[in-house]
Amino acid sequence: MELVQLTANTYACLQPDLGLGYSNSGFVDLGGGLVIDTFWDLPRTAELLSKYETVTSDRPRRLVNTHHNGDHCWGNQLFAEIGTEIIGHELCAEYFMLEASPALFLSLCDTDDDELGSMAGFVHGLRRFDFHGIELTPPTTLLKGDTELDLDGTFVQLMYVGPAHTPGDLVAFLPDESVLYTGDILFNQCTPIGWEGTFENWIGALARLEALEPGVVVPGHGPLTDVGGLRGLREYLQYVRDEARAHFNAGRSTIDAAKRIELGPYAGWTEPERLAFQVDRAYREFSGTSWDTPIDTMRVFSEVAQLRDHFAASP
Ligand SMILES: [Zn+2]
Repeated sequence: MELVQLTANTYACLQPDLGLGYSNSGFVDLGGGLVIDTFWDLPRTAELLSKYETVTSDRPRRLVNTHHNGDHCWGNQLFAEIGTEIIGHELCAEYFMLEASPALFLSLCDTDDDELGSMAGFVHGLRRFDFHGIELTPPTTLLKGDTELDLDGTFVQLMYVGPAHTPGDLVAFLPDESVLYTGDILFNQCTPIGWEGTFENWIGALARLEALEPGVVVPGHGPLTDVGGLRGLREYLQYVRDEARAHFNAGRSTIDAAKRIELGPYAGWTEPERLAFQVDRAYREFSGTSWDTPIDTMRVFSEVAQLRDHFAASP
């Protein structure tokens, strides 16, 4: 991981996008210190904390979780132990304990490959992380909507933009520094996964963030970018939804639709097979399913695996 200074008072800790769970974090060295997101396991989060300690003498006063997925908040306990206030949307806290548990991931990591079936690719990704010792520590300062934090006279806008990627999606924007931390509202140069939420809200969220015209954008996954990265993902989501609509209307299955969608400029994004998540979401929406209906994760992972093989076989 690499600590990068963005502006006079803002930083990002970036992990190279090696696939599942390689997320980014942010730090604002004002008002006692504000951290945006932790990492998926304790060793990585401890390293993150030590990096932030190189630029500030304070223990971070506040931590914001952009959403409840473990790769952004399973390191929370290391901050709770030093008295950091943990802030999140109330739906982030609600879904926090509904997410798959560290114990489940540890048992999956110990399962023989030949018993994993379509989950094999997912579990191979899990094995790069260390899920020992994690005590789920949800945010305790809960937001219902947009909020502003005053950090020594520099304002941070915490904007609620969910349910888009998940129910409790927050982003953090510092107008004075022109820096935006998006969490997983933005996957940059990597194919997005969407859980609970809708295309309309996600596309609307990206349009709202583009209008802020941030100079630096720290995505949830992938390298630093600017407003162009926001536009790129918005156009991808619009394209996939439109393509999926045509296949849905033609009565095709989700996997058939996903195989037929031409990726064009998006073929170079990492993990293109995650397209299966977006096609599944589109079909659920076209069928009138509500945004919070649980996803059939096993089936979607099976389609991700099929698509991976399909792309590998068709250069
Ligand atoms: Zn993530």
